[in-house]
Amino acid sequence: MCYTIPGKITKINGKKAIVEYFGEEREILNEFSDIKEGDFVYAQGGYLINKVPEEEALESLKFWKENFKTLKELDKNLAVTGFAKPSDKLIPILKKIQNKKEVSKKELLALLETKDKQDQEIILKTANQIRQQIHSNASCVHGIIEFSNYCRNNCYYCGIRKDAPVERYRLSPDEIIEIGKKAAHKYNFKALVLQSGEDLWYTEEKLSYIIQELRKENLLLFVSLGIRPKETYQKLFAAGARGVLMRFETANQKIFDSMRPQTDFETRIQLIKDLQKIGYIVATGFLVGLPNETNEDIVDNILLTKELQPEMFSFGPLIPSQDTPLKDEPPVKKETMLKIIALTRFAEPDANILVTTALETLDEDAKKEGLMAGANSLMINVTPDAIRNKYHIYDNRAQNDKDIQKNIDQTIKLMQSLGRAPSDIGLK
Ligand code: SAH
Repeated sequence: MCYTIPGKITKINGKKAIVEYFGEEREILNEFSDIKEGDFVYAQGGYLINKVPEEEALESLKFWKENFKTLKELDKNLAVTGFAKPSDKLIPILKKIQNKKEVSKKELLALLETKDKQDQEIILKTANQIRQQIHSNASCVHGIIEFSNYCRNNCYYCGIRKDAPVERYRLSPDEIIEIGKKAAHKYNFKALVLQSGEDLWYTEEKLSYIIQELRKENLLLFVSLGIRPKETYQKLFAAGARGVLMRFETANQKIFDSMRPQTDFETRIQLIKDLQKIGYIVATGFLVGLPNETNEDIVDNILLTKELQPEMFSFGPLIPSQDTPLKDEPPVKKETMLKIIALTRFAEPDANILVTTALETLDEDAKKEGLMAGANSLMINVTPDAIRNKYHIYDNRAQNDKDIQKNIDQTIKLMQSLGRAPSDIGLK
């Protein structure tokens, strides 16, 4: 099983190329000079990752050919919304959304504050319909390795904050490379996120080495390391990293300052913008449920993410973590999270929206429900079990990821039951 369907190059125009999946065309960036029209390739996140030998591609396509149409039809049928009549106040907003008109902050707020169960269901189903119209059944599944839980920061929400009494670990560069290779070859991932606390033990040199080695394994590499100088990120890009996952955490500066001592909101936002200028694919977003957060803040978070124009939206609920000042915060309701996914889809119809692992911890249906509320991407943890418990960002992390292969199988099964196929989602 692979997490990306091979596509065929149908057109090359400088660094842009068109790749075709069973008649569906998507635009990708191509950094290779030896790619020609007619070649088979793997692409992820709008990037051409590697050329695939024709024989291998045809074999994989044979498997997918039978499945692709069936899956697409299934997804389409599931997105058909023979749903009930919305309440009067919802009708004009839904009309705007269906006509692809921009929804205002006030309207998003009204949707977020909808209490009526039937209206809530209509909101989620409408978001799924828009996702289907725009992305069809294309989804992406990324792997994530959490390679160090050392952190110089003391963010109030985070279970690996500097003052938290957790057992610390650091994987050596060669251990990280080993796990990455396994993710690529044993588990067939095409895209991998390397995440850690803000741990300066990993120097530019060490990180560049890891990236250079893993880039040879035909992986689209994301890093999630927190604040580093722009020059470091430039070097990591040169080494082969192409994505960064960095949330701004909250658009409300007062909350940001109260939750993240000794860090600076403007610096983080500026770095996100700089990373885009360097050429990185950026995934960004926010936490939901920080103390003193209002519904208006939530909408502002969605709108700031939109303003940053990331390739991927990543947001999740705060899960109170035992040894943090926020250990007694009330949990975020799953319904709220699902509505936020839907609202994000309305605010930015062509967004790629991730179902994050924190959302999955809320309950066992959350992953499926997220995918049915407008989300189109997933992440699977490939950190070895023994270490994973120590990367304790929050309590009760989703248990279903204990056995990596089992989790992959379950995820693929879930995606198939929803008619989703892991073709590349293309450039926006
Ligand atoms: N050091 C990196 C990675 C941080 S961990 C960086 O600074 O970007 C990745 C994300 O986990 C954070 O951005 C935060 O949004 C999320 N997170 C931290 N603590 C959490 C908690 N208690 N519940 C849910 N998510 C949390």
